[in-house]
Amino acid sequence: MGADPLIVAGAVLVGLCVGSFLNVCILRLPRDQSLLRPRSTCPHCKQPIAWRDNIPVFSWLWLRGKCRWCHAPISKQYPLIEALVGVLFGVSLLVYGMTLHAVAAALFGTILLGIAITDARHYIIPDEFTWGGLVIGLLLALGGGVQGFLQALLGAAVGFALLWLVGTAGSWVFKEDAMGGGDIKMMAMVGSFVGWRGVLLTIFAGALLGSLIFVPLSLKKKRLVPFGVFLAVGAVVAFVFGDTIIAWYGHFLKGD
Ligand SMILES: [Zn+2]
Repeated sequence: MGADPLIVAGAVLVGLCVGSFLNVCILRLPRDQSLLRPRSTCPHCKQPIAWRDNIPVFSWLWLRGKCRWCHAPISKQYPLIEALVGVLFGVSLLVYGMTLHAVAAALFGTILLGIAITDARHYIIPDEFTWGGLVIGLLLALGGGVQGFLQALLGAAVGFALLWLVGTAGSWVFKEDAMGGGDIKMMAMVGSFVGWRGVLLTIFAGALLGSLIFVPLSLKKKRLVPFGVFLAVGAVVAFVFGDTIIAWYGHFLKGD
């Protein structure tokens, strides 16, 4: 299945623009600011950023990572996220072809990236990513994206219920909130994309990664766990390799 290079390039371009919008979301959603107004300004000199200085990746390279007006450095995060989402959109199209599955992969990956960054930085998972993502996941399922609508609905319910249970049990045991509300809503969103089996796989992979990476780190100094970061990685594993892993596990249980 050879994809038309022009269509792949188009997908990358769309991804670059979505990445640019994701940057705005990452910056503003944790602070409860509007995504539309005011227009982007340089955080240093407050000059509005003109459209020609706001072209994904290229403007940053062209201005050599500095503000046109005051020459204050502009974070590498902006072009990196734009490039990453651009690649994500291109790869989704190459892997899944011109299908809703590819659209789901691209949007799911973008939302998970946004969640991972805001959770790692601020310990916040904005509702726009979780509830907004849930709506997108259900709509894609309605259109026959990755799975049927009922499967997506069941996945969302299982994701929500399981994390709610873990969180409630955790707060009894540790006398503090072990699981943020954002994690619970996040797993409802994840479930709408990967189904209930994918939810189990996501939690398993997320917990495994979390304990492998975070426990050694937290032994040094007590820190909050941005569990959403690990769940996001787990969700990617579940989306991409879920069917393979679940089939393998089924064979394993049957002993063949
Ligand atoms: Zn400036």
